[in-house]
Amino acid sequence: MILIDGGQGEGGGQVLRTALALSLVTGKAFRIDNIRAKRSKPGLLRQHLTAVQAATAVGGAETQGASIGSSRLDFTPGGLKPGAYRFAVGTAGSATLVLQTILPPLLLAKGPSELLLEGGTHNPFAPPFDFLSKAFLPLLKRMGAKIDARLERHGFYPAGGGKFSVRIEPTPDLQPLELLERGETVRRSARALLANLPVSIAQRELSIVQEKLGLAAHEIATEVIEQNPGPGNVLLVEIESEHVTEVFTGFGEKGRKAEDVARAAVDHTRAYLSAGAPVGPHLADQLLVPLALAGRGKFRTCEPSGHTRTNLDVIRRFLSADLRIEAEADGKWGVEVK
Ligand code: AMP
Repeated sequence: MILIDGGQGEGGGQVLRTALALSLVTGKAFRIDNIRAKRSKPGLLRQHLTAVQAATAVGGAETQGASIGSSRLDFTPGGLKPGAYRFAVGTAGSATLVLQTILPPLLLAKGPSELLLEGGTHNPFAPPFDFLSKAFLPLLKRMGAKIDARLERHGFYPAGGGKFSVRIEPTPDLQPLELLERGETVRRSARALLANLPVSIAQRELSIVQEKLGLAAHEIATEVIEQNPGPGNVLLVEIESEHVTEVFTGFGEKGRKAEDVARAAVDHTRAYLSAGAPVGPHLADQLLVPLALAGRGKFRTCEPSGHTRTNLDVIRRFLSADLRIEAEADGKWGVEVK
């Protein structure tokens, strides 16, 4: 049994999710202690428990310690069972992170899967659905994966109630990803999503983003989300370049000024544009598992985040792939699997 310290490095939910995903891929059992030890509410929260339950269902697994608040989990995978599943987080906890857990094994399963995922689709500290659909999944498709994801309802923090469906076709041979340059900028846009909040919030956000990023009037848009349980507000900046699309987000929440939401999205976007590498920090940590599973490939990114470094360490516990991260010229970093 592989022993994982859930408090290592970044010490958050990703240590658990990567361990679940790779346990299902490799058939290796693991025990994780100190789950999410570095978070303010450690242990399994609803979102993480849903990820464990999803992994248990699709992997015919046996578990011990799968309960709210638990800081230890034993996970023994059975055989992969592709098929139709519905997983509901039941709070605004991130449903996109539940997908992050079960997508790699289902790609390698013997048959197609249809997933319905319910919970948060646009909440802080997690990939918003637009990041999945515009940045992450297109790169997986470039690696040969056949995945179709559709947003059915937005779920904002704290009300949740979002929903999206994903169809996954088996892709036993993931192709290597080579993403070394960004290329020319092809399209830029900023969209402010609003549910049950005054439109003036979106206008204030967009006017800041427009000015600071030098966007034209046709590059900004307000999207009012009707019939949603939230209030909700998310600002999404999309930078489409020749070889990659990146999505940067500012999350609105009660008590947070529209100006601060805009500044967060602007800061992330500017940091990406000035770093010059094609892969931003969130995309970098999320590409590591697919890259390792492909067994070959390389991408360039900015200085590695704690998530990236920690995820590399967890991946190395399950896979023998030779994963390396090295500083290159001009502050860029190369992540390579040989
Ligand atoms: P953890 O904090 O360990 O639960 O992991 C959070 C995961 O969500 C990591 O894979 C992050 O890269 C990802 N994430 C957090 N915020 C964003 C964001 N704004 N856009 C895309 N991914 C994100």
